[in-house]
Parts: sequence; structure tokens; C-alpha cells
Amino acid sequence: MTAIVRAVEIRKSYGDFQALQGISLDVAQGEVLCIIGPSGSGKSTFLRCINQLEQIDGGALWVNGELAGYRQAGDKLHELSERQIARQRLATSMVFQRFNLFPHKTALENVIEGPVQVLRRNRAQAEKEARTLLERVGLGHKCDAFPVELSGGQQQRVAIARALAMQPQLMLFDEPTSALDPELVGEVLAVMRDLASSGITMIVVTHELGFAREVADRVVFMDGGRIVESGTPEQVLSRPQNKRTQDFIAAVIA
Ligand code: ADP
Ligand code: MG
Repeated sequence: MTAIVRAVEIRKSYGDFQALQGISLDVAQGEVLCIIGPSGSGKSTFLRCINQLEQIDGGALWVNGELAGYRQAGDKLHELSERQIARQRLATSMVFQRFNLFPHKTALENVIEGPVQVLRRNRAQAEKEARTLLERVGLGHKCDAFPVELSGGQQQRVAIARALAMQPQLMLFDEPTSALDPELVGEVLAVMRDLASSGITMIVVTHELGFAREVADRVVFMDGGRIVESGTPEQVLSRPQNKRTQDFIAAVIA
């Protein structure tokens, strides 16, 4: 098994508050992992650590085969420079609850921004690939639309195309449908379902238990900065063993 993410006892505190209290988890290449859990349980913090938007305080984290944030020399660890961390961060792309598109750029311009500015790709080639990606998320006809001209569901699909344009090894989704009107959730989940079946490695924080049941290879339930339960969707969602998992699922379904 090739692990794209290997987290060993990772910890993260904000002041005296421990948001992550020792998270150990491997995510295999091509795996779709869904993380569920109550608000404040550390789900976003965990994704932010994987994407190195946050630095861990303890434990060790490997992403795409590299120790995140450090270089190991013998038994010594050396912190990587900003530039080296920026390079490591390219292995992952994150899709947020709020789409954060550039408002003054069209859908196409939003998608090519990273490839052209960060990856220094040829603009014409980047545009061609961006059109293909926008078609893939069902927005081939909206390449020239500005974010205000798009619904929330369409904006989130542009954000997914933008994340894919960076050709990451790992896609991270942090409650990608939570900010959407209910009637727009389905179109975004459909795109994510399509991605999942394409073989890209995904970690998805979501309250959409139906989606998790259908698409996830594995479901993890987090509470209080810890992984409380993990297993197949069937195990965790239909036959949860832990009382906290049972209560959470009952509350979400209710
Ligand atoms: P979740 O995504 O599961 O709702 P988070 O990872 O966002 O949870 O947050 C976990 C805990 O860490 C929460 O109690 C939150 O208030 C706290 N927290 C998150 N980010 C910060 C921060 N930047 N500063 C202080 N506390 C934070
Ligand atoms: Mg969160």
C-alpha cells in the first residue's frame, strides 16, 4: 500500500486548548476517506495540518511520501523554509465551505490562476486544460461567467475545477456543501462522486451521510480532537459501536 497521508499521533494546540489530541491515520493512494463529527471536534484543523496551513505541535505527518514541514538528517529534524513548504503544499488542493473565487475574474481565469502564476504553466495550454476541467464539472458553457453570475453550486464546482487544475496528489474537501442552499447540494456531490470514481485520493469532511455511505472507502468519526471510531461506511454509519458515534449519527439523521 502506498500511503498518501501518514499521520502518527499528531497534536495541535491553540494556546492551552488541544484541538488535536493524537491523531493517527493512514490514507492510501486512491482511497476516499470521509470524516464526520460534531462541530469543534478538530476536523478542519486536521485538514489544515495536512495542507500545512497549520503547523503540528507533536507527532509526525507524511504527505505524499515526504515529512511535512521538516527534513530529516540522521536523527535530527530541520525545519523547511517557507519556499520548501510551499513546494510541499502543492501535493494537496483544498476545497473550502466558502468557495473564495476571485470576484473580478471569470470562471476560466479563476481556474488558470494557479497553473499560470504558481506552476508557471504556458497560458494557452493552461486555458485548454481549464476548459476541459470546467466541462468535467458541468460548466463548459460558463467559462466566461463571473462568480456573481453563478449560483453557489456552480461557484463551488468552479472551485473544484480550480483545485484540480493544480494536479494534486490529494484533494481535501472541508464541508464543501455546507454553505449551499439545499437544492444545490446534489450537483456538487455529483461532481465529487465522479471524482471519487476517477481514482483520485480524497479526504472529505462532510455531514452528508448518504454521500459518505455511497462513496467512501472508509469513514472516520472524530470527537474532542480524537478519532473515536473508524471503519467501512457500513460499520461506522449503520452499526456504530461507540455511544458518541451513535448519538452523532442519530442527531444528523433526525
Ligand atoms: P471542526 O472543523 O471539527 O468544527 P475545528 O478544527 O475548526 O473543528 O476546531 C477545533 C477546535 O479548535 C474548536 O474548539 C475551535 O474553536 C478551535 N480552533 C480552531 N482554530 C482555532 C484558532 N485559529 N484559534 C483558536 N482556536 C481554534
Ligand atoms: Mg470545520
